[in-house]
Amino acid sequence: MRAKGALHIHSQLSHDGTLTIAELASWYRGKGYQFLAMGEHGEDLNDAKVQTLIDESARNSDDKFCVIPGIEFAVTRHMHIVGLGVTRLIPPNDPVTVVHEIHQQGGFAILAHPMRIGWQCAADVLQAIDAAEIWNVGYDGKYVPSPVALSGFRGMQQLNPNLLAVASHDFHRTASYYDLGIEMEVASLSREPILQNLQNGRYVNRSRFFRADAHGRVSPIRAGLLNIISRQLRHIRKARTLFLRFTA
Ligand SMILES: [Zn+2]
Ligand SMILES: [Zn+2]
Repeated sequence: MRAKGALHIHSQLSHDGTLTIAELASWYRGKGYQFLAMGEHGEDLNDAKVQTLIDESARNSDDKFCVIPGIEFAVTRHMHIVGLGVTRLIPPNDPVTVVHEIHQQGGFAILAHPMRIGWQCAADVLQAIDAAEIWNVGYDGKYVPSPVALSGFRGMQQLNPNLLAVASHDFHRTASYYDLGIEMEVASLSREPILQNLQNGRYVNRSRFFRADAHGRVSPIRAGLLNIISRQLRHIRKARTLFLRFTA
């Protein structure tokens, strides 16, 4: 079956999340998604909260919808690494060590919002992680990723040609939601086949104006369209600022 999912989701288990896992599951079900992969802030969790994350993920999953637990780790070198499928806390450490432990737990390791580090990431980290966010809705633009994010991703891929690209919601509240899916073919809606598809790059990143395969490839026509849209959005934002200034 075809499944559409959203990655890197914060619930109330994170200090800045606004919805419970049950509310998130029902919100995303209503929007036509079949799976969610959580990315709760590790520093907000303790063993009891991790257990809640595991229990609530299971309780809100059935044969039509799957919630995969996941934790976002604030590691050294100013990076955040999201471990999808991770169910045990990992102490703060060097990103390469944390990625190794994510893999030990059968998880999928994503470099979150590389925009925050200017897409400058050391080769040892890029070679350890599975994927980087080619588009984080919170950081790289709500309706389309900025062309800078796409070229930043290409730069990182030069240090690891196998680096996968994921588009993430980094969801905290419904107001910043944008319809952006990870789409894949799965035999059943459960954690293992979904994680396996991610690990094997068997998915596409898709929204209304954007489509990139798991390797971050965007067709030239779409790349051109993306440039036009993001330029128009910049103009609209500038015009709005001017308008507000003159009417204040
Ligand atoms: Zn983060
Ligand atoms: Zn986050």
